[in-house]
Amino acid sequence: MNLFERGKAVIPGGVNSPVRAFGSVHTDPIFIDHAKGPYLYSNEGQQYIDMVNSWGPMILGHGREDLLSLVPRYLEEGMSFGLPTEVEVEMAEFLTEAIGTDMIRMVNSGTEATMSAIRLARGYTQRKKIIKFEGCYHGHSDGLLVSSGSGTLTFKQPTSLGVPEEIISQTLVARYNDLEDVRRLFAEHPQDIAAVILEPIAGNMGVVPASVEFIQGLRALTQEEGALLIFDEVITGFRCHFGSVKEDFGVEPDLFCFGKIIGGGLPVGAFAGKREIMSLLSPLGGVYQAGTLSGNPLAMKMGLDVLHILKEQPEIYRELNRKADVLVEGFEDNIRATGIPAKVTRFKTMVCLFFGEFDEIKSYDDVRQADTELFEAYYREMLGAHILLPPSQFEALFLSHAHSDAILEYVIEQNKKALEKIRA
Ligand SMILES: *Cc1c(COP(=O)(O)O)cnc(C)c1O
Repeated sequence: MNLFERGKAVIPGGVNSPVRAFGSVHTDPIFIDHAKGPYLYSNEGQQYIDMVNSWGPMILGHGREDLLSLVPRYLEEGMSFGLPTEVEVEMAEFLTEAIGTDMIRMVNSGTEATMSAIRLARGYTQRKKIIKFEGCYHGHSDGLLVSSGSGTLTFKQPTSLGVPEEIISQTLVARYNDLEDVRRLFAEHPQDIAAVILEPIAGNMGVVPASVEFIQGLRALTQEEGALLIFDEVITGFRCHFGSVKEDFGVEPDLFCFGKIIGGGLPVGAFAGKREIMSLLSPLGGVYQAGTLSGNPLAMKMGLDVLHILKEQPEIYRELNRKADVLVEGFEDNIRATGIPAKVTRFKTMVCLFFGEFDEIKSYDDVRQADTELFEAYYREMLGAHILLPPSQFEALFLSHAHSDAILEYVIEQNKKALEKIRA
């Protein structure tokens, strides 16, 4: 019996996270045995160029010797104590400085980070409702599973079973990049909205950058209305460049959520923000939040090692940006040359190739025009060329430092072949 069959007998869908089932591209999932540099090696002995990179965390590529050599020592020092450690303090010092904020708390996933940030915002403002944006994904806690991103877009089920209406009724949904829509919700629910949460660059409906006016408008509006502004930077944090994308907008949010890259491949999340707000967290204040494995020493050490490399070698982000330039230019040339209906969206190192006819791509309404059948055909062609793309139209490409120029050249060449093939 193959692995997928064995998995399906004991794991719902055979996978521990739905996108891994490759359902939207109608292929069987590829089980990964191991990885090195830019390559994944499947259990069937195939080599693939990895454009998933664990959805972000493997920004440096797989299996770097300098990082691997540290692991035995870390393991010897102890894997978990459930008691405070120096490395947690170091991580908190490092991240608060990198983000430019006061306090941070570590959790184990992005889902926990957003869930806890929202509880904190509600505790701080003593209000109930929150605003999120259609097409933004913030993990799978009940109140945030409304019009969320890739998973639900892909599976065409806008909300999940098992989420009570009473909880969803506290979540208001606005159109991304549409400040008037947010203004309308504040007017309809005066003194009732605790927070506005968003991905400052949407990365779970493909890549859809927010405009500077939109983010600055949200900052002014939330301030006027006494609501908090929460940046969910689980994807954007330490990916677009070192630290937060707040610099790109000239805006200071009240709370930040992080995950993915900051764990260096181990399970990590964090939420951070102003002292006045963060001080409301237990044990200092009345907002409860906890975690047996939060601040896990192994995850803190690996995460910090990756973060130190990213800080001390700014050329890594310059290179990633240059590689994104090369990729975007290559894809756009190929789109022109083949006349295929497609559009590339991009913010710094986040890139997405959308299939379909678009005037603009600014919100979920635009994104839902995407031609997922063309994407599926494209996906299969690229897979045939041993390039493993995220198996959904509504995901960003994940570049890593290990992608060489030769690999990018190959990806662009195969992209052209694939576009030619699927146009025919
Ligand atoms: C991945 C993601 C999450 C959820 O993080 P998990 O670690 O998968 O729980 C939340 N927000 C955004 C923007 C994400 O991309």
